Amino acid sequence: MTWLLDLDGVVWLSGRPIAGSARAIERLRDSGRRVVFFTNNSGPTIADHLAVLAQAGVNATADEILTSSQAAASLLDPGTSAAVIGGPGVREALAVRGVEVVLATSGPAAVVVGRTTELSYEDLSAAATAIRRGARFIATNSDATMPTPDGPVPGAGAIMAFLSVASGVEPIVAGKPGVAAGQLVADRVGQVEVSVGDRADTDGLFSQVTKSRFALVLSGVTTDDDLPVKPAPDFVGETLMDIVDQALGT
Ligand SMILES: [Mg+2]
Repeated sequence: MTWLLDLDGVVWLSGRPIAGSARAIERLRDSGRRVVFFTNNSGPTIADHLAVLAQAGVNATADEILTSSQAAASLLDPGTSAAVIGGPGVREALAVRGVEVVLATSGPAAVVVGRTTELSYEDLSAAATAIRRGARFIATNSDATMPTPDGPVPGAGAIMAFLSVASGVEPIVAGKPGVAAGQLVADRVGQVEVSVGDRADTDGLFSQVTKSRFALVLSGVTTDDDLPVKPAPDFVGETLMDIVDQALGT
């Protein structure tokens, strides 16, 4: 039996460990459950994610981490090409998939967009032109913002919207709660027992895609004031530890 855990807002908040999350994961593993992480954050590499997990006291292996970058890469056939507006995680996932990363001006088969802080008007313009000329427009995720300790900052969805307006083309969104993400979980994980996340509109909807039970934690973007949410969670807890206590018994 596998539990699928979101990272930001569940295991950590902006990289700072959430109290009890490491112990909760240990408890799940001790009970014989497999724990797999799925993040919509496309920027970091798998090694980056593993390093932050280790800092939070969680040992994991590369095959226990799924990302929206991998979901985006899975939509492309090996041997094809893509231009990237996004971070190292997107480039890594494309390389693993066997997709060549090329300039937007060189007639790529696809343009893959994720959150990056390194943007230029020139790059965006070239990407919009490639999309208008028929390159497949794939976004890792559509989150409008990303939470930081200083408040929300523009997310992948904001960059995606820029390119969509500029090209007149609607993107395919690969990450949670999209179909490509669901297929990635089906291929790499199989059946999921419980999905834990901090957002009903991504993690909650995705639990329906993976036909798993949805556990909502209030340690991320969703607070008490936002309840009730749709889809209705099977469990609600302050933290992952609370959810594990409810599911396994204290
Ligand atoms: Mg989250």
